[in-house]
Amino acid sequence: MGKKLLMGNEAIARGAVEAGLNLATAYPGTPSSEIIGTLAEWSGDFDYYVEWSVNEKVAMEVAGGAAYAGGRALVAMKQVGLNVASDPLMSLAYIGVQGALVVVVADDPGPHSSQTEQDTRVFAKFAKLPVFDPSSPEEALAMTKAAFELSHRYQLPVLLRPTTRVCHATSGIEFGPRIPNVPEGFVKDPKWVIFPRLSYQQHQLLEETRLRLEREFSDGPWNPLTPGDRIGIVAGGVSYLYAREAVARLGLNPTMLKVGTPHPLPTAKLEQFLSRVDRVFVLEELDPVLEEGIIALAGQVGFKGPIYGKRSGHFPWAGEYSADRIQSVLARTLELAPAAPEPGAQDVPPELPVRPPVLCAGCPHRASFYAVKRGSRGSNAIYTGDIGCYTLGNAPPLSMVDTCLCMGAGLTVGQGLLRMEPGRPVFAFIGDSTFFHTGIPGILNAVYNQHPIKLVLLDNSTTAMTGHQPHPGMGRTACGGAVPQVDPVAVLRACGVEWLEVLDPLDLPATEAAVRRALEYPGVVALVLKSPCVATFKATRRYRIDSAACSNCGRCLRELGCPAFYREEKPQIGPSCYGCGLCSQICPKGAIGEVGRS
Ligand code: SF4
Ligand code: SF4
Repeated sequence: MGKKLLMGNEAIARGAVEAGLNLATAYPGTPSSEIIGTLAEWSGDFDYYVEWSVNEKVAMEVAGGAAYAGGRALVAMKQVGLNVASDPLMSLAYIGVQGALVVVVADDPGPHSSQTEQDTRVFAKFAKLPVFDPSSPEEALAMTKAAFELSHRYQLPVLLRPTTRVCHATSGIEFGPRIPNVPEGFVKDPKWVIFPRLSYQQHQLLEETRLRLEREFSDGPWNPLTPGDRIGIVAGGVSYLYAREAVARLGLNPTMLKVGTPHPLPTAKLEQFLSRVDRVFVLEELDPVLEEGIIALAGQVGFKGPIYGKRSGHFPWAGEYSADRIQSVLARTLELAPAAPEPGAQDVPPELPVRPPVLCAGCPHRASFYAVKRGSRGSNAIYTGDIGCYTLGNAPPLSMVDTCLCMGAGLTVGQGLLRMEPGRPVFAFIGDSTFFHTGIPGILNAVYNQHPIKLVLLDNSTTAMTGHQPHPGMGRTACGGAVPQVDPVAVLRACGVEWLEVLDPLDLPATEAAVRRALEYPGVVALVLKSPCVATFKATRRYRIDSAACSNCGRCLRELGCPAFYREEKPQIGPSCYGCGLCSQICPKGAIGEVGRS
């Protein structure tokens, strides 16, 4: 079938296609988003259904339903999304499926773009479900296919846990044939209704299945043992590749066990491994899942050698690993001379300067934050934020995000805050996609329980942070089909919000005036600040500063934080200006003007 250059997420999508995918759902979240984006792109070529669901719980339930009817379903999310979807997942483990359900959860060690570093392998153990842990895009494809096959055979959801480096790495991938799956349809049966007695039986069955899987994984191909000397290395995920590189650099020949199925652990294979070595290094990012399993097994089989990992203090608990990090721990622990530098290492480019993330030049959220800041001046207001690129409103000079917890929580945290300090205004910022994800229950709660929150809906008509995926407010589906648009304003009215204004935040005086009116209103209010994300259209204007008119007061630099500005003797506007016109509205000298409308 030939090779193609694919990133890890695309390889997972390809694996699903080859496994006979019937349905795929997801809510976007870095580093998982390209899985569904790719499946949507390919949907014209294959017979399957793809959707961006409004949140991960909904996505899990839609995929579960398809798998009840014999479909092969995939649901994708990032690690924090699994928290949202955990309720249906835990029950699906007991209820099972008829076809196959593969739950892809992309973990983000580092973290690069997440609230937490949580480890989905621990979740798999908690849910009593098998999990595959790929170390490369090639393996991600192979494990996706294996996960579908295992799920169908055991009629159990199966997790796949790629990490950021696997999701976003690129590799030449061998394509295989697609084996179609024809769902038999839903067959009514009492087993689909989770009653306590059934739960008890299913729990017992899950434990029996775990033991069967332990044996199957020990005999299967996902946990290869490479014999070497009596130094033992156990590694999972991308850490295995780092370990290979580190031992090659140090000239070591350890016995290596790659664990591709961290739950249930391949116990018999681990026993074999322990019998060949006299000390063990355990290499895994985030939680000591393998390490704790090995410590327990070592006790059972009487292994007396040292086990070097996180619990022994040899490896860090937080953050990503790298070949360098592993090499230095191995060299230090084994008392080896420092390895000679790699050929060409002296040519390695210098570290890039740290660039804190900022709202884009021309981003309408900057105007929204600025208008609310100015309009609420002197009010002692609290500004609760939410998850999305607008979380960046916390950075100076805007400094407009006082709290940020998780999707949809800005609204509800704000309600708790204002109950403790009645009379203190709370402005809760939320993006349009997050509003559909988990914002609606929060606004319903505010209306129902009379929490006078001031919602600021930053409607840029996309899911910007994760790559502009569509949502119910956009009038199109994952595969581009046109559908009726759900108007957030109508939703807010239906939720009972009585005081509501829709404005363009780039009209600064009008937005500021609306903020002042909102401050006066005693009940729940909603300001819908609507202006498209600048990454979704081509700029047609630019602004520049007339140096002769500029008094060099520095206000434009000091108050907005637009990255298009830079300073020479006087402030200047660079080519990244998107022409939003915000700066021209605040310059006291009228020195900033539009150029180049096209
Ligand atoms: S008009 Fe001003 S605020 Fe808007 S992008 Fe250009 S420089 Fe930035
Ligand atoms: S706000 Fe206007 S006058 Fe002040 S520095 Fe900027 S361009 Fe010059």
